[in-house]
Amino acid sequence: MESMNPRDLVVCPYNKAHTMLRNKLQKHVMKCKEIYKDEIELLICPFNNVHRVPAAEFHQHTKSCEDRKIILHYQLSQAAELNEETKHEKIEADENWDDTCVENYNPEIYASQATIVRESKGLFRAQRKQFIKQEHRRILGEEYDDVKPPKARKVK
Ligand SMILES: [Zn+2]
Ligand SMILES: [Zn+2]
Repeated sequence: MESMNPRDLVVCPYNKAHTMLRNKLQKHVMKCKEIYKDEIELLICPFNNVHRVPAAEFHQHTKSCEDRKIILHYQLSQAAELNEETKHEKIEADENWDDTCVENYNPEIYASQATIVRESKGLFRAQRKQFIKQEHRRILGEEYDDVKPPKARKVK
């Protein structure tokens, strides 16, 4: 019975004369696959990609593979964890851009801000604030003064 110790000596599936530490097997198998690709055709075990099995033994191997139990167990526990993690995906706002205008909340302003922010994405924060104020003036005209929040600073 093989153990899973990475310090174990294992035999290359392509050439029984190749022995190496288990933790070197994966790299080795990739090399031998290239070297022997015209002579030996081995199928890759679905449970461990360093298991290379002749087609005739493949079905038997998938039933008796030592990694089958480990993988199935792993997949089951992973699936449970993933469900927990993906349940609540956080969506973070990229920037708190409206801190000077938030006091006098007004749905009309809010709607125009939403449009403006999309348009001004890519401007620097200071430029963006100025841009938003200019846009308020442009879109709302005289009404702008009525809804101007007390905290708003003058733009030079
Ligand atoms: Zn080899
Ligand atoms: Zn296997």
